[in-house]
This record gives sequence, C-alpha cells and structure tokens, in this order.
Amino acid sequence: MTATTTPSTVAQALGAAVALGIDRLDAQLLLLHALGRAPHDRAWLLAHDTDALPEAAWPALSAQLSRRLAGEPVAYLLGEKEFHGLNLQVDARVLVPRPDTETLVEWALQCLEGHAAPRALDLGTGSGAIALALQHARPDAQVDAVDASADALAVAEANARRLGLPVRFAQAHWLDGAASGYTVIASNPPYIAANDPHLPALRHEPSSALVAGADGLDDIRQIVRTAPDHLAPGGWLLLEHGHDQAVAVHQLLAERGFTEVQSREDLAGIQRCSGGIWRTVK
Ligand code: GLN
Repeated sequence: MTATTTPSTVAQALGAAVALGIDRLDAQLLLLHALGRAPHDRAWLLAHDTDALPEAAWPALSAQLSRRLAGEPVAYLLGEKEFHGLNLQVDARVLVPRPDTETLVEWALQCLEGHAAPRALDLGTGSGAIALALQHARPDAQVDAVDASADALAVAEANARRLGLPVRFAQAHWLDGAASGYTVIASNPPYIAANDPHLPALRHEPSSALVAGADGLDDIRQIVRTAPDHLAPGGWLLLEHGHDQAVAVHQLLAERGFTEVQSREDLAGIQRCSGGIWRTVK
C-alpha cells in the first residue's frame, strides 16, 4: 500500500487509512497497534493528533492496511480479540470470537447458577473463548474444553495459561471419549452450509470451524445425538447456530428427547442459540 505522500502526523495517518477504504474504527485500532499502543487507547489518538508519526510506523501500518483490504479480520492483524471481558490472543488457527457468542456464555452461566462446583464442557473451543469465559466467571466450576484441531488447542491453552484459568483441554472430535455428568455442555460448532454465499467473506478463518455439510447442520446433529450420554440428569445442552436454523435445531433437540427446548437472541435480535434439558432416565 503506498500513499502519494507519507503521512507525517498521527491524524494524517488515520486520514490516509480511511481514504484507502478502511473502516474508521479498524483504522484507529491498526494505527494504535502500529504505534505500539493498546486498542483501548483511542482517546490517545485524539490527544496526539498533531504528533509526528514515527518513521517506522507508516510502513508497518500500510502493510497491515493491505492485508485488511484483502479481507483479513482485524483481530488477526492485532493478534487479539476481547471476548466477555477477557483479552484473547487469536490468529488464523482459530475462528475469531464473535460478540454473538457471549449470548451462549450468558445462558450457560444462568444454567450453572445454583449448582455448587458444577461441571461444564465446551465443544470445539477454538481460541478457548467459551470455556475461558465460563471459568473466569465461575472459578468453582470444573470447565473442560475439546477441539479436534491441535492448532486450535495450542491457541486455547496459551490463552488459558496467560489468563491463569485452569480449564482442562483435550483433543477430541465432539464428544468422542468425553466424560459424563456435565451440568452444561455448550458449543459454537461450525454451522454454515457448504454452498453459503457468505463463505468467501470468511475465507481467512479456518473452514473447519465454519462449514458443516450441505445444510450446515451436520455437526449439530452429531452433538445432539451424542450429548445425552454426557449430561447429568437435568443438564443443559446449549448450541449456537445460524440465523435461520432455530426451528431445525429445536426439532432435533425435541426429537432426541430434550425438554424445555428454547432459544436465546443475539445482539441483533436473531435467535442464535438453542438448547434444552436432558431429563430422561436412560
Ligand atoms: N457466526 C459466524 C459467522 O457467521 C460463524 C461461526 C460458526 O460457524 N460457528 O460469521
């Protein structure tokens, strides 16, 4: 990325980034990063708008702007993403945690309320977002997390170490080899249909975290089928799913024998998570 003239101040660098077509907030975050400042320091940019831009900052920033214009998520460029109040390190080995998934975390925390030392399992943990948020909010819980990807687990385990959270991680495909007796099993599995027109926009993220068969429900079907063996009586299975999958997921849960099947809305008011209680004596 070359500007006709190299910006000489902080404000000019921001203006140049926006002129290239970068969203203003993204431009601020990337500029702060290039200046070695924290992402929450946006006020600094205003207070220092006439400061001279350090010589190395523009080459570093323009390299990042090119990658952003090619569609890379800002979180990968910054190397971090805030999720449920935790700062998680992320890179292309894991899906970028979305604010919508905080809905699933809030719901899981409600399901854990009133249980002393409950046990929770996060399936397909990726960066560790759900498991780490649960463990942070409930230090008394035993939180387990699995992922099929060794690469993802390396990211999640590093996040757990850095945050000092004692989540137990294991490499597994969904519930293969999982323990039983969980109070809550929560998952943000892949749920996008293989031919979904939105997939090209997500091409920088691992497709194994996004795509689940012809209708996007392959992994959810498998989790719904196998979860009862691993839930405590009265335990909840909570699943994030696509914007138009609530009805289908309700049906899968009800057919499997879950009760109190219901959904929660994401920040946009879309039914984004569905779940139910396992009560049946097996
Ligand atoms: N919510 C993500 C998206 O549509 C998909 C995450 C997933 O498949 N679990 O961008």
